[in-house]
Amino acid sequence: MLFSSVLASLHLAAATLAPGESLRAPPFVARRLAEGVYAVMGDTGRGSEGRPNAGFIVTREGVVVIEALASPRQGEALLRTIRGVTRQPVRWLVLTHHHPDHTFGAIVFRRAGAKVIAHPDRQMLASEGGEDALVADWVRVMGLDAMRGFEFADTPDRPVTTSDSLLLGGRTIVISHPGAGHSAGDLIVWLPKERVLFAGDLLIEDGVTMVVDGSARDLERGLAKIDSLQPRVAVPGHGAIPARPGDLVARTRAYITGLESNMRAAIEKGVPMRRALASLPPADESRPVSLNSRRRRNAARVYVEEERDYMGLEDSTR
Ligand SMILES: [Zn+2]
Repeated sequence: MLFSSVLASLHLAAATLAPGESLRAPPFVARRLAEGVYAVMGDTGRGSEGRPNAGFIVTREGVVVIEALASPRQGEALLRTIRGVTRQPVRWLVLTHHHPDHTFGAIVFRRAGAKVIAHPDRQMLASEGGEDALVADWVRVMGLDAMRGFEFADTPDRPVTTSDSLLLGGRTIVISHPGAGHSAGDLIVWLPKERVLFAGDLLIEDGVTMVVDGSARDLERGLAKIDSLQPRVAVPGHGAIPARPGDLVARTRAYITGLESNMRAAIEKGVPMRRALASLPPADESRPVSLNSRRRRNAARVYVEEERDYMGLEDSTR
């Protein structure tokens, strides 16, 4: 489907809604992490395939939302969840990166008056076929109904490329770029007083963070950054909040450094990529972020990274 026809059908679908009907999506459950700080848990136990986690911070001068979720319908459900806690206006939407499952609900928050804080680099593998193909693919994943009213809304009003402190209603919210571990446009959100971290997809409940749009080296740097913050609570991009944040960081690090040394050893022995990957289960067709797919796709990415490093080449893919 062409972009224009995808968008046309999304608008057509939106036009058939009765006023207020779009807010029918039932709210999610908000979990209080600290005074005025909430996590909205997505699907747990499904790794990167489930609905991501989100969050919001209530201040005297408005609400800061973290993540927009995967579709306008999910965005509306998140907004309703926030409305169940506070009537404060939503001032800011922070996006931890630009993958569709975290951003395709953003238009809902823009329409509610929020400005967007994000990294300006929106580059990702899935968008290489163009935005039309990305939307068409996503409509197939989410269904036309969930995508009614969709527009791209993830370009930042307030871009963050290093670090930025948002001071709002007596709260301090530090938004920083921990390197391009999971994607070029990664951000993490840190509340220094409450010691709560929203880690985006740097952390996934099963420890297998995807580096296909980023790099293993940067992921390691990002994990070191998280360790240095010593969070009391770390909300991963997907899945359950770990009892001890350091355990999930350690598990993620063990996975990625293990993969690096395996691929490095293969390269040093002259083993071609195909054989270096032979011990891994095949990627699941049509499930690009299943555990098997993540492990295999990461291995291919890290092989290339290590090969370039071994040959003393600059990594031109970054
Ligand atoms: Zn992601």
